[in-house]
Order: sequence, then structure tokens, then C-alpha cells
Amino acid sequence: MSFTEILGQKRAVEILRRERAHDRVPHAYLFCGPEGVGKKRTALALAQVLECAAMGEDACGSCPACRKVAHDRHPDVHLFQPVARTKGATAKIHIDQVRELQGVISLKAMEGRKKIMILDDADRMVEQAANALLKTLEEPPGDALLILIAAFPDLLPATILSRSRKVRFQPLSDEVVTQVLMREKGMEEAEARSLARFAQGSLSRVMEMELDDLLSRRERFLGEIGRWKEGDLSAVFAFAEPFAKNAGDAIDFVTYLLEWTRDLIAVKLRGPEGVLIYRDQVPDLEANCRGATLQDLLDQFEGLQKTLQKLERNVNPRLALEVALSRLVA
Ligand SMILES: [Zn+2]
Repeated sequence: MSFTEILGQKRAVEILRRERAHDRVPHAYLFCGPEGVGKKRTALALAQVLECAAMGEDACGSCPACRKVAHDRHPDVHLFQPVARTKGATAKIHIDQVRELQGVISLKAMEGRKKIMILDDADRMVEQAANALLKTLEEPPGDALLILIAAFPDLLPATILSRSRKVRFQPLSDEVVTQVLMREKGMEEAEARSLARFAQGSLSRVMEMELDDLLSRRERFLGEIGRWKEGDLSAVFAFAEPFAKNAGDAIDFVTYLLEWTRDLIAVKLRGPEGVLIYRDQVPDLEANCRGATLQDLLDQFEGLQKTLQKLERNVNPRLALEVALSRLVA
């Protein structure tokens, strides 16, 4: 993974390149931005270029250091991710993981020029772990670099935010998602383009899904929407039930609703059909938005976005869905 292989994050990569070129790499970066846009890949690309034996503007990709980073075998580059300690528990970064990080960081680098600690989903650190990490951020060893990755940086304590240099990552364009799907999943262009429209700038969602799977779920969703118009709350809850079992499914469900509402707004504003996700459902969309004002639809969109954020913060999926749906029907 080198900088040139990072797609759609020109600004973030430029900042990192520049700071490295001027020898101004800080002790801690905070990479923030939506899920699935390349934050972890970029962290690994930075680790590679910092350890690369060739010491060029980008990682060479072939020296032993580059290969070790790529295969997660470099003794000075460590990736920490949230773990679920009991079955069904929410994955978190725990205090003992931060202690392990501190142990590694207190030693001299073994092979590399720097000791690089990447904390994926750092916003899922338990409070004790965050407090412990703060001590490291206050007095970091000279050759240490911490890269914190977070989709919801606001969940991190202000004391951690103020000690790390923030680099923002953007949602990916449909074009970039299409390219990645073609390159990494070997998809035909037409299929990749259809899927990219559902990605909403995030690769993590579509990379795990096949188009057929996605379309059949979406069809089930559309098949139900007619029943909702009658305001039958129990039918809506019954339909939401299977999606409420886990946060991932609930996130998909709310995402369909968001896409649907986004299309309703586009129809209300008489936007071109090309911008619609559900462009094969124009008569239904028109019928659906007839009784609603633009403000109603914008409120609905905002409400659903908040629900999505809650779900991504691991709020009880059933509760979040029920609250969102009862507002929708009312
Ligand atoms: Zn190299």
C-alpha cells in the first residue's frame, strides 16, 4: 500500500506527504472521516513510507520493510483494533491493549526509524484506555508516531483531540468507488456503477456485498413501502423486526430509508432523474411525496441521519429503529 494507491483522498495524502517531506511528522495524527473511505489504508501507507529502506517520496513496496508492513509483520508497526471480550458484546479498545501499546513504545525501535502505533476505531476506546493513552500523548517517546482513526472523533476526550493533528478524509465519489470495485472485485463496469450509487461514498458497505444480494434486499424493502402509506405501525414494526437483530442490518435498513427520502426530496425539487437511486420507482416516489412538504422531507432526512449515527455508535438497534419508524409514519 503506497500513497499513489490511495484513491479519492488527495487532500489528506498531500498533507501527509508535505509534512513528511519537511520533517514535520507529529507524535500523533487523528485520521477522521466516514467509515470505509480509506483511513486505515492511508495509515498503513504512511507507516510504509516512513519505514521504507528506499526513503523516497513514496514507499517502494518491495524492500523488506515495505513487505513486512504490508503483511502486518513489521516489529515496529502495530495495529490495534477493538475486540469484543464476551459473545455479543460491543467491540472496544480496552485498557490492556493500551498498556501493550505503551510497553512496545517504551522500547527502542527494533528495525525501523519510527515506532508506529495505529489505533483503528479509536473512538471505541473505553474511558480507562483513553486516560492511559493520554499519558503517552503527553510525553511521547521521540521516535513514536500514534495514528488514531475515528469516524466519530467527537466521542474522544478533548484532551486527546487537542494533542493529535487532525487530518480529514472525505466520502468517496461514485467514480472512485466504481474504479475500486472494478479493480479489487473484478466487476464489470456497469455492475460496479450500479453498486457505487448505493455506496454513498463508503467502500466498506459495498465491498462485502454482492449486487444481487443488495438488489434483492432493496426489492423486499420497496415491496413493503406501500403498506407504510396506510400508517399501520404494527406492519412497519413487523417488517423492521429482522433488521433489528443486529446493528449492521439496522444500518442497511436506515440507509435504504435515507436513500428513499433523498430521492423523495429530489423528486419534490424536480431534479433530473439521473440523480435518483430508485430511478425505476418514479411513480411511487411521486405518489409518496405528494402529501409532504419539502420541510417535512428535510426533517425526515435529518431524523434518519441522526438514527444512523446512533446505530453507528452501537445504540440498541431495535429501539433506534422503532423510534425512527414511528416518526416516519406519524
Ligand atoms: Zn520500501
